[in-house]
Amino acid sequence: MKIIVHRGAEEIGGNCVEIRSGKSRILLDYGSPLPKTGPETGKNIETDPEEAILNIPGLYDTSPNPILALLISHTHLDHYGALLARPINPGIKVFMSEIMEDVARITTKMPRDGKKLPVGINYFRRGHKFIIGRFVITPYLMDHTAAESFAFLIESEGKRVIYTGDFREHGNKANAFKQFLAANMGPIDAIITEGTQAEVEKGPTEADVMGEIETRVKGHNGALYFMCAGQDIGLLTSLAYLAKNTRRYLVVDGYTALLLERVKGLALKQGVDLKIPGLETEFLRIIRTTATQRIYQLTEYTETFSRMRPKLFGWDWVRDNLDRLIIPVRANSQLWVDEQIKDLGGGTFLYSDWETYTEEAGMSDTLEWFKARGLTDIPMPTTSHAYFSTIRKMVENKKPRYIVPINTGHAEKFTETFGKRARLLKNGEEFFLD
Ligand SMILES: [Zn+2]
Repeated sequence: MKIIVHRGAEEIGGNCVEIRSGKSRILLDYGSPLPKTGPETGKNIETDPEEAILNIPGLYDTSPNPILALLISHTHLDHYGALLARPINPGIKVFMSEIMEDVARITTKMPRDGKKLPVGINYFRRGHKFIIGRFVITPYLMDHTAAESFAFLIESEGKRVIYTGDFREHGNKANAFKQFLAANMGPIDAIITEGTQAEVEKGPTEADVMGEIETRVKGHNGALYFMCAGQDIGLLTSLAYLAKNTRRYLVVDGYTALLLERVKGLALKQGVDLKIPGLETEFLRIIRTTATQRIYQLTEYTETFSRMRPKLFGWDWVRDNLDRLIIPVRANSQLWVDEQIKDLGGGTFLYSDWETYTEEAGMSDTLEWFKARGLTDIPMPTTSHAYFSTIRKMVENKKPRYIVPINTGHAEKFTETFGKRARLLKNGEEFFLD
């Protein structure tokens, strides 16, 4: 078996990893590189989506050894964005979970000129093995801030490779990581692991952080503006608890409300009752942003939109009730905050000071905008990526012969800790598993 990290070996984001066994080839993730920031403005620069494209034989043309499948680990753009840039060879089967496809379809429909996902996505399900060419693949649900995120166990020629995707063990899906550790996978030859947050040895759980926030904001008046990516359903769930416990309203737009409803509905169909906020949540309110307007225009969501109607509140209501609101903000939210709310006096801005906010284009601009508004800032030690103690725990548990760190600026941490077992690869370098 052979591993080639086409992109992501030397940088965070833009992931694409190829696994070969004989003539069988598969790709793991096909992400866009992280958005660049202008050196002078400090703002995200619009990049041409075509820049995300990789020239891998068989991806857009034919190849004597065709790429059989592309497996997506989760629907953050740095893991699937390049798939949207240009249609790939239709012979390549694209695999996601059903929830991931739904979330990605909604997200790509939000801009009017949005890029389209390929039709005919194939589904995988957590824990269910499937076969592609000479590979046997098992997906494992992981704890991360996308709606769903998976690691893959890839078996072929008697060899086993784990690709972690993005993960952590301190978020709302900590149980998924426990199950991943408990799964008996047999002897592992290599773990390809993310190391985005490898410089942090250990940190608090998200529940700990939210508990502390609750104590701090209880009895405090004023709107709470929370940096929260659109797909971070775990954080939205924590914010719903915070709203309940501090007697506030959780205010979301139509896009977030739709995501919550769809994810909940699809999980129920699979027999899982997710404890996430939704349209039946008493203190949830939906505001009329352009995203909400866009959902209204998309006829495929008419039924859900009609159920949203009783929860829709106007801007007068928002301005009159600011003291009692929790408002998640993400890329472009500053536009409607500036236009409709205007007066941010007495408000508090909560954000992670460990996160670079690069998984959603434009998030870092939102962060800078709010930081410059003179609100009471509460930086939080939260991250969507594994602490090094978690990576260590995984390595001790799975005992791989090799550890291949990707998406990290701290590769030395891996060599210091795992010695020769750490295999630092360059983008495009071939690594044979003998
Ligand atoms: Zn991610």
